[in-house]
Amino acid sequence: MQEYDYIVVGGGSGGIASANRAGEHGAKVLLIEGNKIGGTCVNVGCVPKKVMWQASTMMEMLQRDVSGYGFDVTINQFDFTALVEAREKYIDFLHGAYNRGLDHNKVERISGYATFQSDHVIEVNGETYTAPNILIATGGYAGPMNVPGGEYALDSDDFFALKTQPKSAIMLGAGYIAAELSGVMQGLGTKVDWAFRHELPLRTFDKMLAENLLEIYQDNHMGIHPNCVVEKIEKNGEAFTVYFENGQTLTAEKVFFAGGRKANTEKIGLENTQVELDDKGFVKVDKYQNTTADDVYAVGDVIGKFGLTPVAIKAGRQLSERLFNGQTEAHLDYENIPTVVFTHPTMATVGLSEAEAIEKYGEGKIKVYRSRFTPMYFALGEYRQKCEMKLVCQGENEKIIGLHAIGVGVDEMLQGFAVAIKMGATKADFDNTVAIHPTGSEEFVTMR
Ligand code: FAD
Ligand code: NDP
Repeated sequence: MQEYDYIVVGGGSGGIASANRAGEHGAKVLLIEGNKIGGTCVNVGCVPKKVMWQASTMMEMLQRDVSGYGFDVTINQFDFTALVEAREKYIDFLHGAYNRGLDHNKVERISGYATFQSDHVIEVNGETYTAPNILIATGGYAGPMNVPGGEYALDSDDFFALKTQPKSAIMLGAGYIAAELSGVMQGLGTKVDWAFRHELPLRTFDKMLAENLLEIYQDNHMGIHPNCVVEKIEKNGEAFTVYFENGQTLTAEKVFFAGGRKANTEKIGLENTQVELDDKGFVKVDKYQNTTADDVYAVGDVIGKFGLTPVAIKAGRQLSERLFNGQTEAHLDYENIPTVVFTHPTMATVGLSEAEAIEKYGEGKIKVYRSRFTPMYFALGEYRQKCEMKLVCQGENEKIIGLHAIGVGVDEMLQGFAVAIKMGATKADFDNTVAIHPTGSEEFVTMR
């Protein structure tokens, strides 16, 4: 049996980050990846999504926004297949960069699916490996649609596998992926119908964001269908029809479902270990990423908490600082994690929504500031799109406990404000900061 200091199962965002950091500190590390290096984010997540979002944003700009500025643009062709090929070439380049980084840190790699034989013995391709420290970073996968005909619904992996652009699509689901891919497809010219189960999608976010998003998506001719619970999906020749419990039906060339992700914990031999799962199949961990088995850890999507790449990376690095660099208290603080949804336009959020703040502190202890305006980007065109921002403040000194925005450019605004909020900024601190004019972000330091 081959021995290492640290075995990392899963070469995605969390696994790679933790393996590299352990290697930097001199540990003998083995990284096991069953599929492509980089995991979800690089291959079928953030990276291809952002490329598609970028293309879709460019299309909107050319078709909708530039004429007001005096341009007379004709798009002769949009080659979806060429876009996909270029995107995949870029992803191949990233594979090379990840491999070079791992080589630099002397992280050994095996290609294959790992299974636990016991807490500290792992089997891959018929060989066994052991280490005193083992990390589970196996990520997750798209949950299936459990209705008759649910197998016809494509997931986000299938979206990124498309070589040609669908003419029409139905999106089912109400979270990040449904919101993002609906916008990407609509922007690129697919006719999109988005159906979700409640009055609003994105219900874990401040309500203001979804309200604005739906208005904007509708203005851009997306079909929006609230209160639609799927009953069944049927194939009609080359098209698919979705039947909803309220009697509505929708038909399109493709149907997509994005209703949350499940953990990759089912086929990895955890029954041979002391590692416990929660009732949804995610690995139970404490704040140091310790599982219930001694010296077995878990980070990233597999723990079911803030399924975001930078969260997996930070948790993985902090763990290696703790295990291999003597930082005994190192751990990720899961408070105030900023996040952006790459919709059209983007939405940015950190901290508590207004509703969460009221529930936690009581209405009398919360003060909310809002600003709604037309960004100068839309100053000259016929099409006007609003940006809306909100600050949620708490207590007498108006500590900022929530910041939310939807509008052109808010994705790039958030990071700096997230630093201020993490440091405990108050409304007065924001007001004491001189605005940058003319920008959208200046609204955050001038709200009254
Ligand atoms: P993963 O990246 O999923 O890596 C797990 C790896 O483990 C995989 O490569 C898998 O093949 C491997 N594996 C599984 N089982 C085994 C085994 N038994 N043996 C060996 N290897 C195994 N996050 C953001 O922050 N921003 C975004 O814009 C964003 N966009 C997204 C868009 C989409 C469509 C999706 C699906 C996700 C997106 N995310 C985004 C989320 C982000 O991709 C994940 O949070 C992140 O990839 C989690 O990293 P991880 O290391 O936990 O898991
Ligand atoms: P989400 O967890 O974001 O949202 C899924 C939502 O879909 C649920 O909250 C639910 O909302 C709805 N839903 C669940 N089941 C059904 C059903 N059977 N029929 C109809 N609707 C259903 O999941 P996603 O799959 O969109 O994304 C997974 C995760 O990936 C995200 O949570 C995020 O962590 C990560 N991600 C991050 C991105 C980013 O950072 N920009 C981008 C993409 C993904 P309701 O109860 O209201 O119906």
